[in-house]
Formats: sequence, C-alpha cells, structure tokens
Amino acid sequence: MEIKFERYFFQSEFLSPVNGFDSVSVPTEVRIDPLTKRRSRIITWALPDKGKFDFSKMIEESKGCIFCPENVLLKTPLFLKEIVPEGRISIGNAVGFPNLFPAGAYGSVIVLCKEHFLNLHEFTPEVYEDGFKVAVEIIRKTMAYDPDARFWQISQNYLLPGGSSILHPHLQVIGDPIPTNEMESLLEASASYFQRNQTLFWNDLVRTEEGLGERYIATSGKVHWFVSYAPIGFNEVCATVEGHSSLTTLSQEEISAFAKGIVSTLKYYYDKNLNSFNLGFYSITDEDHHQLLLRIISRSPIQPYYLNDWTSFEVLQSELTLNIYPEVLCREIRPYFS
Ligand SMILES: [Zn+2]
Repeated sequence: MEIKFERYFFQSEFLSPVNGFDSVSVPTEVRIDPLTKRRSRIITWALPDKGKFDFSKMIEESKGCIFCPENVLLKTPLFLKEIVPEGRISIGNAVGFPNLFPAGAYGSVIVLCKEHFLNLHEFTPEVYEDGFKVAVEIIRKTMAYDPDARFWQISQNYLLPGGSSILHPHLQVIGDPIPTNEMESLLEASASYFQRNQTLFWNDLVRTEEGLGERYIATSGKVHWFVSYAPIGFNEVCATVEGHSSLTTLSQEEISAFAKGIVSTLKYYYDKNLNSFNLGFYSITDEDHHQLLLRIISRSPIQPYYLNDWTSFEVLQSELTLNIYPEVLCREIRPYFS
C-alpha cells in the first residue's frame, strides 16, 4: 500500500496591532492530496460568522418558478422520443427533463421536490433518493441511445454562491463522451496507482483512514464517509462505495446510504450558519480503477455584502484554500451521522 500524507507547515510572523505590537506567529499548512498530488492550503483564521440569513423576501419574490409544481410539467423541455418516449421521468416528487440551457452533450435537470425552497436542515433522505433514482434512469436511457456518453456528473448547485440562479432545489445531470479535467485527473492517478500497487486506491484509502480514525466519519454497508486529507473546498465531506464506478449499478440500500449521509452533512452545515453548497458525483462507466466518488463542499453563505470564497488563490493559482482542519471537521460532523 502506498498512501502518503505529505504536508508543509509555515509560520507567518509579524508585530500585531491587536496584540500591543507584540510579535505573533500565524500558522498555515499546505497538504498534498495522496492521489492527485494537488496542493490544498489550510488557513487557520476565519472571518466572524454573521448568523442565519432570512430567506423570506427572496422566497416571496421568486415563488411560482418554472420548477414549482404548477409549471414543471407545462414549461420544461421534453427528452427526445428515442431516449425517453414519455418525455420526462418522474419518481416520487422528483421530475427529470432536459436542461433548457445545457452545458454538455447531454444536460438534464432534476427538480427534487415540490417545495420552492428548503433550508439545509429541511432536506430529507427521500428527496435525494427520488432524485438519484431519476438520475439513474436518465443515465441508463441516454447510454442505451449513446453508449459513448459514459462520463457523468450528478451535481447540485445550491443558491447563488453555489452558482444557481434558481432557488428551487434541483440537480444537474451532465453526460459527455469525454471526461472533465477532474475526472481525467482521478482516472489517470488511480490507474497509475493500480499499476504500481496492484490494488485499488479507494479501497486502500478507506482502510487507511478507518485505521487512523481522524478523518473517517462513518460507514453504511459498502458506502464509506470521510473527510479528505487535502480537501478541494470548504467543509468538504466525501463518500465512496466499494464495487461501483457509476451511479447506475447501485442497490436501493446504497442509494439510500448516500442520501442519508448528504442530509446529515447539510444538517451540520445548517448548524454552522452555512446555507449554500455544491455536491457532485463522479460517475464513470467501464473504468476498473475508478470508484464512484461523491464530494460535498460548503460555499460562502448568502448574506448582505456576500464575500466570494474563490480568490486569486483558486482562480489564478489553482490552489484551493479552506479554513478548518479536516480532522476538526471530522470530529464535529461525526455525531450527525450516528
Ligand atoms: Zn419553485
């Protein structure tokens, strides 16, 4: 096994005005991801929390949107008849249809629920279970029509800081015949890990993290929840599942385990006064060295004088910053999974 947890420690020293101009020393840590070798920067300070945002005005101004129950079956696009003869896919309260503004070869939207807005503690496992079942159907039916479309993102952008202009909870399901940058990086690194070790990186990582216990959150059947050693976003929580590279082969129990863990993570975010997030599955068919991976990260909460969390570090240096030690996040979030 070849899992290495490498890091650099830096101390920035100066004379602080808040400390009578005495010398202070502020730590920063740079960690190297054990798979991709990408660097993440842990900053040990954060701006003060501004409390919970009142969404009532925003809800009032935007309700009755295209995804609300009175409009969703009238105003959203239909799939090609060759892909989904019935036009849209509905399971429980979730409804899937093509994206009017696609960003790939196959772009779909899944409206998750009838409610126009949900606070993060109001999402239920059933909301995600229904949504993921619709995603599985969209991927299966699209791949029956075009088997080359085997690289899929199943994502959620929640609220404006997460990149969504529509408040109503929904997923994006995007399929292409080529991988995204991140998929390619994961595939190349895990194939090269396999060549060197003859073992699957994700199984080795889960076993190592379980042994160390500092970043391993919980397990449910073959679904493992953990915090990355070198996260790529704020409050990043990950899950992977043994024996699957794609969402389409998951059992009902495994779909349900993912749904429950997402809801637990969102409850933790809510308690931390966060409200916006991104989540995404990297779902790839026919890749022996890949394992289905889910990442959830929080974004700067929506609030007056909103502060963007992507600075020149992220957009110009491709170096991701975060402000909580992964081990602290793991300790804080573990009770939400029990
Ligand atoms: Zn709505």
